[in-house]
Amino acid sequence: MHLIQGEKIRPHVRFLAHDLLEGRGVGERGGQLAAQYIAAQFASAGLKPGAPGGGWFQPVPLRVVEVAPGPRLSAEAGGKRLQWRWLDDFVGTSYRQEPKAEFDAEAVFVGHGISAPEYGWDDYAGADVRGKVVVLFTNEPPSQDENFFQGRALTYYGRWTYKYEEAARRGAVAALIVHTAPTASYGWQVVRANGRPQPQAKRKDGEPALAFAGWITEQAGAKLAALAGEKLEDLLKAADTRGFRARPLGRVKIRGRMRFRVEEIETENVVGFVRGSDPKLAGEAVVFSAHWDHLGVGEPVNGDNIYNGALDNATGCAMLVEMARAWASMEPKPLRSAYFVAVTAEESGLLGSRYFAENPPLPAARIAAALNFDSYSPYGRVRDAVLTGADRTSFFPTVQNMAKRHQLALKPDPRPEAGGYYRSDHFSFARVGIPAFSVNMGGDYEGKPQGFAAEIGKKMAARYHQPGDEYSEEWDFSGMEQFARFGFALGVEIANLEKLPARVNAR
Ligand SMILES: [Zn+2]
Repeated sequence: MHLIQGEKIRPHVRFLAHDLLEGRGVGERGGQLAAQYIAAQFASAGLKPGAPGGGWFQPVPLRVVEVAPGPRLSAEAGGKRLQWRWLDDFVGTSYRQEPKAEFDAEAVFVGHGISAPEYGWDDYAGADVRGKVVVLFTNEPPSQDENFFQGRALTYYGRWTYKYEEAARRGAVAALIVHTAPTASYGWQVVRANGRPQPQAKRKDGEPALAFAGWITEQAGAKLAALAGEKLEDLLKAADTRGFRARPLGRVKIRGRMRFRVEEIETENVVGFVRGSDPKLAGEAVVFSAHWDHLGVGEPVNGDNIYNGALDNATGCAMLVEMARAWASMEPKPLRSAYFVAVTAEESGLLGSRYFAENPPLPAARIAAALNFDSYSPYGRVRDAVLTGADRTSFFPTVQNMAKRHQLALKPDPRPEAGGYYRSDHFSFARVGIPAFSVNMGGDYEGKPQGFAAEIGKKMAARYHQPGDEYSEEWDFSGMEQFARFGFALGVEIANLEKLPARVNAR
């Protein structure tokens, strides 16, 4: 059998992170080159095309919605009017994917905008927000105990994506999230940066969608509260209190007038397949995924405008290719089949993986597990692993055993309150019930002096989503070799399990 080797991972990273690929933007030439490269590597590794309907590529229909200059958003009550300025006071987009949005509607304060029967919490109880503008805070009510919204860990209810989805399901015309540093856990500049045009999943016919999904600054929120005769901190306190119910925001009406440029884009998931050796179990499969996209060409930093995404995620793609090669060369092969999927549009909100999970080449119920690979350290081997989501699956004991065999200590997610579980491609699989997790390196480096991990962590954080995320010949691929071997072994183990693992509930 072909053994996975770090020095075989290196050239893929060198190529995928090259300036010629222009940061592998979705719908851009560099992104298409990356997808073609991975398909060619899959073919030469001995995989078969595995996309639904045949071929290496699964087209993912997306649209980019760009806000035209001069969008207008204002609030009015009792003859007083607040006019907000784009980027300084508000940002947002439209999920209707139409050329314009116009609304003039009553504002309803919906607290955290959560409807979670399993926690006895319903901010929308008894409220009718159809055609109205909902105003809310992101995050979830503060934890009271381990069982309430899973304690310190953020649940999906706390994510801003959920807030918009729930508001749309309720028929609201628009949703405004009031930014505060504690509820968002990041500053306004992060929200503001997300205001640039982003691809979204193409809206299906009749699917409810917000005409405007936006954020306003804390300052704008404070003025809005004052306009309604309230105080922002009182609203937040109310939102955090059990028994909170949605209520009109004074007599405030919110008015929007915006135009959009809507563009269809073509992008694809790359899918390779290896059939299992057991005639019956070959109808079930293990999925390996890694996102190939990165941010493309953008704002220059120190004269460099190419966001190469070497770490994020040329490393994961390179490992995916070498795990695929090893799998295809195994004799005999594992009992179940395997899919190797390089997904698109992770950076725009896990869109490629979500499309694959909702349109899989075999029924989702026959996918035994999905293992995701995203961003690996080029500074050598470690003694620990963080398997985000593995503890929510029924085969966690198997995973623990495998970690032991690979001499890796399993560490919990160091910051569960940041909601990492919902921010990586494995979540796309989990939300349709597939047991899924991400295989991440820990930070306990082998044979390195004290303080090395902290120093490296700082270095990597500074390059995160910056043009400085570039490949270097000095990179050490032994840690990637270690984790590709570990991930591969996990996949083999799961592919040979007697029984399909139990489905999961990703909330
Ligand atoms: Zn990223």
